[in-house]
Amino acid sequence: MTTKAPSAGEHTLSRCSKCKETTNHTIVAMVGDRIARVECNVCGSVHNHRGTTPPKPRTNTPRNPSQPRKNRSQLQWESLMAAADKGAAIPYNLKTPIKTGDLINHPSFGMGIILSTTRPNKMDVIFENGIKRLLCTAGD
Ligand SMILES: [Zn+2]
Repeated sequence: MTTKAPSAGEHTLSRCSKCKETTNHTIVAMVGDRIARVECNVCGSVHNHRGTTPPKPRTNTPRNPSQPRKNRSQLQWESLMAAADKGAAIPYNLKTPIKTGDLINHPSFGMGIILSTTRPNKMDVIFENGIKRLLCTAGD
């Protein structure tokens, strides 16, 4: 028994881009013994034969999940931290007077630099995860 090559007018399975699934198609044109063009029996569109495997998803921007892109505040935090004296970090609490430029050590957010303070009790602090507004004793 020999495997008969398909020929125009016969039916085959092909992936239809309009139906977005593998449907029955009628072979319209052959190139050698390969199916070239097919007509979808469901929607009637004629297109190149794609076989039955879905096209591969595009991989134009591969992202490495272990190295997420740093946003601007992270970069700012890193440069501020590089210049900061980490030994001088003030443990965060509401009582210690805080000035702009001070380095604090927050139990949840980690090391942060005071970007600004607002009397009597607000401060904007940049942490690795972004800028937060916290309560404090403003010492500016
Ligand atoms: Zn179709």
